[in-house]
Amino acid sequence: MYGVIKRLTELLDPQKVSIMGIDISLVDTPIETRASTPSLSSVPPPHQGHGNSGNVDMAIKHDWLWSKLSKWLKANDILITEAGMPSVGVWDTKLPRDTTTISQMFWRSIGYTLPAAQGAALASRELGSVQRVILFITDRNFQSTAPAISTILKHKLDIIIFLINNGGYTIERWLHDMKAGYNDAPDWEYTAIPKTMGGKAMVDISNVHSGPYVHPAKMMTKRDRGYKSYTVNNMIELEELWVKEEFKKPMGMHFVEMHMRKEDAPLPLKLVCKNIVKTNKASST
Ligand SMILES: [Mg+2]
Repeated sequence: MYGVIKRLTELLDPQKVSIMGIDISLVDTPIETRASTPSLSSVPPPHQGHGNSGNVDMAIKHDWLWSKLSKWLKANDILITEAGMPSVGVWDTKLPRDTTTISQMFWRSIGYTLPAAQGAALASRELGSVQRVILFITDRNFQSTAPAISTILKHKLDIIIFLINNGGYTIERWLHDMKAGYNDAPDWEYTAIPKTMGGKAMVDISNVHSGPYVHPAKMMTKRDRGYKSYTVNNMIELEELWVKEEFKKPMGMHFVEMHMRKEDAPLPLKLVCKNIVKTNKASST
């Protein structure tokens, strides 16, 4: 089946295709090209908070994120994507060998993936696995099931959580009104959530020099495992995070608040929303 799909996509000319009346000629940028990151060598350092650096737009965008993710993932990772932006954005991600994916595409249950990630991390540990458990979840959805953070911390599970802070319900903005206040999420202090939920800050042992060298990950016992929070505002900061040792073999909870723009969405999602709006308009006239 894989061979058939591969051959069909090779033969397909996107310029000649229309899906339910949608012009998909917008899909004209190869995934590999979208994943290129502007070089910082020619621009000033990015400023905290808005993702811009000089005249260069350094904000993390869906078009870039999900294809770039392909290069960071490793074989055997467990990748969990929340309903909405992550579950659609991940269609642009090329998965390494033996990746396990978890999503809730059928009911699109909001907030499902946070406790699902907790279950996956617990199961992974009990099976003696060394798989990384990686969750992408959006802000409003996270708020629905946030107490699961407490359970993750209680069991001292190993997990990487990317919380996309884009200010609320972006799909609803695309479907109904980009500026409607009811789609705004309450502004939580996300990086403080692990502490609020009973977590202990991870002890930084990366600078311990006495005695024979021991890799930091090996020095950390189950009892030591706590949480570490991060904030990323732009592409460079995210890429710098991805190359850190603690993200290659996470121990404890690594909680990353990732700022993205509220109107940004993966291209397939924009196309579907536009089509729904068009269909709704046609049926109401
Ligand atoms: Mg959101």
